[in-house]
Amino acid sequence: MSLDKIKDFLDNNGIEYIEKGKNVMAGNIGINCPFECDDPSHHLGINSKGWYSCWKDSSHSGKQFTNLIAALLNVSKYEAESLWAENEYISNTEEFYTITDKSVSENILDTKPIELPKDFRLIKKENGITQRFISYLKSRDIPDYQIYDKENPIFYSIKGIWINRFIFPILFNGLIFSWTSRSIYPDCELKYLDLSPDESARPVKHCIWKYDNLKKYNNQNILYITEGVFDCLKLNSYLPKGNQATCIFTKTLRDEQKGLLFDIAHNFKKIKIMLDADAIMEAERIRREISFFKNISIEYLPDGIKDPAELPAEYIRNFLH
Ligand SMILES: [Zn+2]
Repeated sequence: MSLDKIKDFLDNNGIEYIEKGKNVMAGNIGINCPFECDDPSHHLGINSKGWYSCWKDSSHSGKQFTNLIAALLNVSKYEAESLWAENEYISNTEEFYTITDKSVSENILDTKPIELPKDFRLIKKENGITQRFISYLKSRDIPDYQIYDKENPIFYSIKGIWINRFIFPILFNGLIFSWTSRSIYPDCELKYLDLSPDESARPVKHCIWKYDNLKKYNNQNILYITEGVFDCLKLNSYLPKGNQATCIFTKTLRDEQKGLLFDIAHNFKKIKIMLDADAIMEAERIRREISFFKNISIEYLPDGIKDPAELPAEYIRNFLH
């Protein structure tokens, strides 16, 4: 929060303020009190933290700037929060774009991709070695067209630190920027293992999965944001046409990921956050952080289901649209 952002907000919403006056402390601004004060003398002061206090009635004071927005614009607290978040975001992205003078996708074009190690193998046909990998995917209800998807190929490894793991490359413009992996053993302590940020062209947790596809589709209905690759694979296998899923590889959303979402969000009417059942708080946090997107909500899992990958195909077909 800064006084400049507060002034931007007031300017954008046509609310008059003064920067000097007998009731205005240095470094603060004054507005008319919106809390039934009936005194048009700019006697409600706002400081750079967004704290506000009325000189006539101390009960018209507070430290939650969004409460003041709600009163000024006569909107709900919830709407006030999203308006403020939007204001913050616009100022931040403006800064971001002036510093770099490039959109996220142009930055991606400048990034040098990495290569997969030679011993990673593409899953293409069932044989003695691939059989257990393919049966694992089938046991999770992943259909053939996803297993052998050329645009989003799945690899496997039978050597080194990546042994007995699926390798999911993370692609931008068809080039590899990093990868995440998942053990085929359900009890493996490190179920998911990412390539380290140092070895990546872009750290896994700065990426969203299937960005290339999501950028290409337009006029879509819902984008589901999930945590893991299996959640994403499962939803994409059974979602009704016009709905897509991505995953963020974790329960929190980094600024770099927000930038990527910003690139693709206009292709979707709605965004639904669908994290694991144990991540309700994290989902709520993401919802607030990206409330500048229109029509964003949380999609809760039915009782007894711990993540979207566990949802029955029928449920995804019939209830997620
Ligand atoms: Zn007042």
